[in-house]
Amino acid sequence: MYLYNSATHKKEELKTHTPNHVEMYTCGPTVYHFAHIGNLRSYIMEDVLEKYLRFAGYSVNRVMNITDVGHLTSDADEGEDKMLKGAKREHKSVMEIAQFYTDAFFADCQKLHIKRPDVVQPATGLIDDYIKIITKLLDTGYAYLAGGNVYFDTSKLDRYYIFNDHNEEDLAVGVREGVEEDTNKKNKNDFVLWFTKSKFEDQALKWDSPWGVGYPGWHIECSGISMKYNGEYLDLHCGGVDNAFPHHTNEIAQSESYLGHPWCPHWCHVAHLNTTDGKMSKSKGEFLTVSLLEQKGYDPLAYRFFCLQSHYRKSLVFTWENLDNAVLAYNKLLAKIANLKDEGGVDEAVRAEYRAKFSKEMDNDLNTAMGVTVLYDVLKAKTSGATKLAIIADLDEVLSLDLIAKAAALREKNAAAAAQSAGAFTVIAEDGTPDEGIENLIRQRADAKKAKNFAEADRIRDELKAQGIEVTDVPNGAKWKRI
Ligand code: AMP
Ligand code: ZN
Repeated sequence: MYLYNSATHKKEELKTHTPNHVEMYTCGPTVYHFAHIGNLRSYIMEDVLEKYLRFAGYSVNRVMNITDVGHLTSDADEGEDKMLKGAKREHKSVMEIAQFYTDAFFADCQKLHIKRPDVVQPATGLIDDYIKIITKLLDTGYAYLAGGNVYFDTSKLDRYYIFNDHNEEDLAVGVREGVEEDTNKKNKNDFVLWFTKSKFEDQALKWDSPWGVGYPGWHIECSGISMKYNGEYLDLHCGGVDNAFPHHTNEIAQSESYLGHPWCPHWCHVAHLNTTDGKMSKSKGEFLTVSLLEQKGYDPLAYRFFCLQSHYRKSLVFTWENLDNAVLAYNKLLAKIANLKDEGGVDEAVRAEYRAKFSKEMDNDLNTAMGVTVLYDVLKAKTSGATKLAIIADLDEVLSLDLIAKAAALREKNAAAAAQSAGAFTVIAEDGTPDEGIENLIRQRADAKKAKNFAEADRIRDELKAQGIEVTDVPNGAKWKRI
């Protein structure tokens, strides 16, 4: 598979340390609030990538962290801890907040058919591992103690900026805007591995360490968690594009310095979902969540379809109109699949041909938009309904749009509606003013006739006549008028 590699700035063949096996790591959510649908765009695309790798014959071990400590409101080392901020907002403990929003995150993932990674590790669960890494970085001179905190010394690296060609000054300004300078740092980009001294003394979660009671920086968690569960050689690391700097840059710095060899050759970054007025954010205006989509009557999988229609490396603009267009296209696709008849047997040669067509698109830097168009080619193909359904089911292992089940449900719904309208007994008021009491009697009369209870039918007719109602039978119903 060819996948763009942000570390080399090229589309490259994915090469793995162990043949046919991918050790994959994905940066997980910071669980201080609900995920917005922008965050979930990243997870949808990473989910498709993982599923496609499996479809292509790799075994995959996918690991993800849950950030429940250490992520400050600035991605550099300043600001308030996001978790603490969430706990204060909701008058709960940090651990309660973490549990609640972790569960909410996975509930959203389930609705979007995002598979749970093989390993999910909350950051607070591996403190000893981070301490071990930091101890070695201090021993080998890659880290230093200053003002009670432990910092990584970026001047010890030959190459710090991996993902971009920005110069140091530009990046430093971007990161530091509006936040105080940490005077303990020897170099602008040095970052905290372990905090003991911070501006917020009410930090809820603290652990003992050789450097005093404190807590880990944000970046060290991903290195620690990945090395524990993916081993020393990671094949593929993913995240949203905002993670590239400083988070991923710092992950590489500390992991390679600790390991003494290259760590992860392939980096995949998902571009942002934006609103028309810019970056999606949890603090700005109406906060776009999966629950909000549902409240407005959208099927979460229509949002997944919307994401798959565009390339993961292009930023995507969210508007309700764009989503409505995706809903229309998704429903049309389902209607077409619902019209297929499962008959004629499966032609395995045709099935292999379309699987290969799909792979060709997906092998080209995960081109999901083109992958989706293969579905339309399948619908038009000259082959049996059973073959088409088999291919659609195959491709949906990766796309996860629930195509077969939803189409079957639609087919049943259509059949029930058709049966109902075919057999329905309609009562028409000739003067256009329906009357429930009279119409109920007319229906009872029809039921009695159907049951061959003609005496009862006549009795009801006489009762209606006594009320001045004349009933005329018409196909599938009756009409009535006052005389
Ligand atoms: P967070 O919960 O803030 O740590 O972010 C979780 C994931 O969502 C990270 O991989 C981010 O890079 C990604 N992310 C954040 N904002 C967006 C966005 N607007 N569009 C796509 N991905 C995003
Ligand atoms: Zn990470």
